[in-house]
Amino acid sequence: MKPRDRDARKRCVTADLSQGGMRVDDSAEVESAEAALDDRDGHRLDGALTRVTTPEPVSQTRGHADGTPALGMRLGIFGTGYAGLVTSVCLAQLGHVVTAVDKDAETVAALSQGMPTIREPGLPELLAANLDAGRLHFTTRPEEAICASDIIFVCVGTPPRNDGRADLAQVEEVARTIAPLLDGYKLIVEKSTVPARTARWIDWTIRRLARPEHEFEVASNPEFLREGTAVSDFLQPDRIVIGADSARARSLLLDLYKPYFDCPIVLTSVTTAEFIKQTANAFLAAKVSFINVVSDLCEALGVDVTAVARGVGLDHRIGGDFVNAGLGFGGSCLPKDLSSLITVAEDHGVDIDLLKEVERINNARVERLLAKIERALWVLRHKVIAVLGASFKPDTDDIRGAPSLTVIPWLHAAGANLRVYDPAALPKLKKLFRPDDRLTYAATALEAARDANALVILTDWDEFRMLDLKLVRSLMRTPIIVDGRNMFAPAEMRAAGFEYYSLGRGDVTLGAERHRAWT
Ligand code: NAD
Repeated sequence: MKPRDRDARKRCVTADLSQGGMRVDDSAEVESAEAALDDRDGHRLDGALTRVTTPEPVSQTRGHADGTPALGMRLGIFGTGYAGLVTSVCLAQLGHVVTAVDKDAETVAALSQGMPTIREPGLPELLAANLDAGRLHFTTRPEEAICASDIIFVCVGTPPRNDGRADLAQVEEVARTIAPLLDGYKLIVEKSTVPARTARWIDWTIRRLARPEHEFEVASNPEFLREGTAVSDFLQPDRIVIGADSARARSLLLDLYKPYFDCPIVLTSVTTAEFIKQTANAFLAAKVSFINVVSDLCEALGVDVTAVARGVGLDHRIGGDFVNAGLGFGGSCLPKDLSSLITVAEDHGVDIDLLKEVERINNARVERLLAKIERALWVLRHKVIAVLGASFKPDTDDIRGAPSLTVIPWLHAAGANLRVYDPAALPKLKKLFRPDDRLTYAATALEAARDANALVILTDWDEFRMLDLKLVRSLMRTPIIVDGRNMFAPAEMRAAGFEYYSLGRGDVTLGAERHRAWT
């Protein structure tokens, strides 16, 4: 295997987002090192790895022996939420013909007119370009997506149930929908994140309801995109995981991706691919909780967690990503995938206390911030608090699993007057928390800060980093910032005249020596 040339790989599929276009380099070479072993379930064993070093041009058409075109494949996608919409748009961008189906008629109507239903950098341009090119079609009619497709992707939600398990009702519904509409061989591919062995349930469900003459298979191709950078993550992935239990399924998915990507393609059994995704998210969650425990210890020791994270993160075995101390992980994926994996382990009698602790540590982060707010303001009743940031991370309007969902009602219940601002997430937040005499939504961060007793930062939007701190200070009644994302340097905040409370770095207070920031 050649050493990985990450830069070359990144050059191969380049989304020119400003143009809504894409450049693909023009020669292909495939290296394959597939292990011809079986796992305990009799599946082809994992670890088979295909590396594509340079993709073919998007315009070149290759074909299977039976004449089926390998490029410009016909794809059906169920679900046009955060994962499904990005998948649809990006696969169309690669040159495939995509029919995306969603139950939500409003979503379909908006997308059909080129209006994105989620905030995601680069998405509007690619949506418009591919609608115009006629490669992308949205519908509420499942039969259109099934009949017109060789491969059907399942991208519907798998939200958490109250008991921590993944709720697979949307996945089951798609399986029941597909079964009677099968009209020839179809490859049904899980892109939704699901517990290991979900594919078997999909297979059984369809088999029970479909006519026996129609062939189908179920494969897994988990999605690793991150909201906020989803388009570039999809088009420039670190790796592609293909879980397929037959040569035919594996070949179809390789044809779908191989010509376009110069990244490792990991070929596994279906069950292993499902498990890889949940394991990846559990590991990322563990990294975040680890640094947050270290952060608490840093506060006790008078050490700055940012310096510690940098010092350890430069070790390539550890890595500098996901070692930012703060409010912990949120969103619709990490928390639910972690709790789902815990239940899978419990079902199999495997000791999973490590991951339970990761979850417990994360759940305690918001409480720690609330304690800091109380310590900074003492009595909260009638205090004006500007809340900056409602989305679970920057560059998305997604509020699922966001700290704001806990912090806002808690402060409201404590009697504070809240002014909330977020660059993208307010429409979603307003549906959850109606404005009242103590909760208003501001049009800008500065408007929120005006006459505030404190400013609480919940999301690290770049826009907040750019704020004119002098102006902010002049607008506030008392210059107090409680920063759940460690966006500013304590020394900078001290110089700007703020009381500044962050996580794991010491607090900047009004001269109280023992709470001094360690700068
Ligand atoms: P989402 O809730 O935003 O989208 C789900 C969509 O599916 C909705 O638009 C819904 O209307 C539609 N839907 C539900 N049932 C349907 C049906 N029977 N037919 C057609 N459409 C139907 O969810 P999401 O965030 O896109 O996540 C989807 C899956 O992808 C989850 O399993 C998630 O874990 C996984 N995933 C998400 C991300 C992410 O960043 N959001 C990243 C990787 C993987």
